[in-house]
Amino acid sequence: MTRFDLVEIFASMQGEGRNTGRQCAFVRFAGCNFDCPWCDTAKEARFAATAAEIVSELSQYPVRSVVLTGGEPAAVEGAGELAAALKSAGWWTAVETNGSIDAPWLRSIDYVACSPKLEYPDRIAIEKADEVRVVASSETAADFCREVEKRIEATDYYVSPCERGGEMDWATAKSVLARLPRWSLSVQLHKILGFR
Ligand code: SF4
Repeated sequence: MTRFDLVEIFASMQGEGRNTGRQCAFVRFAGCNFDCPWCDTAKEARFAATAAEIVSELSQYPVRSVVLTGGEPAAVEGAGELAAALKSAGWWTAVETNGSIDAPWLRSIDYVACSPKLEYPDRIAIEKADEVRVVASSETAADFCREVEKRIEATDYYVSPCERGGEMDWATAKSVLARLPRWSLSVQLHKILGFR
């Protein structure tokens, strides 16, 4: 039975994208196959747990939606086992992935949010998602977004401002969005309102 390296399990609200405001539990896997220069996500493992232990831990929360996040969930060996256990336990499941690994279990997930990275333009593997979010980490993000739109079929496409040193780069996001009429703004509401 797989023991997953985890950073944290907690309940909060989704802070970005189409499900903003949805009350969810979050399971954050340790480790990522990317190393984005502006990444502020904790990726070091703090504990390990089996799928059954994770489902049991989640049962203490009143919510029925769970987001698998990271790090990079699709890079986690055996993560499909956890996805199946969550579905069996009646959870609505979502995943946040950088899109670089087309893991078969992603197709069993109710909502796939894909965030390909401008810093890794040649690492887009998935072709379909429910939403796509691109961080506007430079002005060249507009060209990257157009390429992403060709390669990943999604219902919604979002640009997010890049945060560096606690400051949101809204000016670059606005400039990038002005060149992408089909794309919408997604802010990280949890950072603005100060929830987890
Ligand atoms: S893909 Fe996400 S978690 Fe991984 S390094 Fe980039 S921002 Fe951080």
